[in-house]
Amino acid sequence: MAKLSVRDLALSGKRVLLRVDFNVPTEERDGVTHITDDTRIRESLPTLTLLRALGAKVIIMAHFGRPKGTVNLKYTLRPVAEHLAKLIEAPVVFSPEVTGEVPAGLISKLTNGDVLLLENVRFHAGEEANDPAFAKALADLGEVYINDAFGAAHRAHASTAGIAAFVPQAAMGLLMEKELQYLQGELRCPASPFVVILGGSKVSDKIGVIKALMEKANTFLIGGAMAYTFFRALGIPTGNSRVEADKVDLATEILELAKEKGVRFLLPVDNLETQEISAKAQPRSTGLVSPAKGVTDGWEAVDIGPETIDRYRTEIAGAKTILWNGPVGIFELPPFAAGTRSIAEAVAASSAVTIIGGGDSVTAVKQFGLGDKMSFCSTGGGASLELLEGKVLPGVAALTEK
Ligand code: ADP
Ligand code: MG
Repeated sequence: MAKLSVRDLALSGKRVLLRVDFNVPTEERDGVTHITDDTRIRESLPTLTLLRALGAKVIIMAHFGRPKGTVNLKYTLRPVAEHLAKLIEAPVVFSPEVTGEVPAGLISKLTNGDVLLLENVRFHAGEEANDPAFAKALADLGEVYINDAFGAAHRAHASTAGIAAFVPQAAMGLLMEKELQYLQGELRCPASPFVVILGGSKVSDKIGVIKALMEKANTFLIGGAMAYTFFRALGIPTGNSRVEADKVDLATEILELAKEKGVRFLLPVDNLETQEISAKAQPRSTGLVSPAKGVTDGWEAVDIGPETIDRYRTEIAGAKTILWNGPVGIFELPPFAAGTRSIAEAVAASSAVTIIGGGDSVTAVKQFGLGDKMSFCSTGGGASLELLEGKVLPGVAALTEK
C-alpha cells in the first residue's frame, strides 16, 4: 500500500496545507519565549523547501503544547513563525486564527513560494476530537494536503487524519516518507543477523515491540531498567532496581516465546549498581549475575556492566541490521552513561543498516555526537513505537493511495 508522496504532485500555484510537528521545547526568559531545541522545525525544512521550489503557496498547520481546545496564548505559535522565518530566510505570515475569514484573507494575498503559519490547531476542541466540521474548515483553506508530522501520526486528529477526507489529494512529506522507509520498509525483510537493542525505563512500554519483532529479529540485546523485570522472572536478585512486579509473568512468557522461536534473547550478565542516584555517585560492578547473586540488597542497577558491554559489542559488530530503542542505563547522569555510550559507539561504527527509534535514545546518540553516523534517527517517540508494533498509524492510513 504505497501512499502518494509530495514528490508525485504538480504543485505550482497550488494552496498546499502542510501539517508539521513544531511541538518544540521552549523556555520563558524575561517574558519572552525562547525555543531551546529547534530540531523538529529543522526536520520539516526539506519538505518546506521543496514545496517553495515547486511554486506552492504553503499553509502550515501545527500544534504546540496542550491548550486543551481553548485559546491560550501561552501556547501561541507566533514565536515559531519568527524562528522559521530566520531559518528559511524569508517572511512567514502568521495567521492568529486557525480557520475562517482571517486566514482565508491572508492566504489570498500569498504568491507562489510564500509561507503562512496558522495559529495552534489545538486552540480548537475539534482538533483532538477529529471533528469533521473542523477538519473541513481547515481543508477549505487549501487544495492539497501534505502530512509531514510523523511524530503526531499515531493520533487521529483533524489536522493529522480527518482533513484528508476533504481534499482531493493527501500525500506524505519527505520526513514522513523517510520515517516509513526506515521503520517499515527496511524492517520488512531486514538483512540478517538482525539485532534489536532494547532498553529504557519500562518493559510495559515495549512489550508490543518485543512481540512484533520476535518474528523477525535474530538477537535481542536487553538493557535499561526493563532488564530487571526479566531478572525477577529468572529469580536473579534485583535489589532496589526498578522492577514492574505486575509484568513478571509477561517477562516469563517473552523468555519462553524467544526459546520457542529460536530467537536469542540476551540479558545483562553484569550491571553497575549504586546507592545514590546522582551525578556524584560512584557505582560499582555487580560482577557476573546468577540466581545466587545479582544486584545487592539496598543497591540499584543503573547501567549494564563491562562484561555485558563487551558481549553486546561483539553482537553489534556481527549484525547486518540494527534497531535500537531505549537507553541501556540512566545516561543522563555521567557516572551511569558508559553503557549507553559504548553501545552508541558500537552501533555508529557498524556497517549495518542502523535505525534509532525513541525520543531518549535519539537524544543520547545526539548527545554523544553520533547522530550522523547512524543510517536513521527517528523523530517520533510514540509514533515510532506504534509503527514497530505493526500498528497502522491513522495519519498515514488517511493519505491517498498512489
Ligand atoms: P526511549 O525514549 O528511547 O524509548 P524510554 O523512554 O523507554 O526510552 O526510557 C528512557 C529512560 O530510561 C531514560 O530516561 C533513562 O534514564 C531510563 N533508564 C535507563 N536505564 C535505567 C535503569 N537501569 N534504571 C532506571 N531508569 C533507567
Ligand atoms: Mg522516552
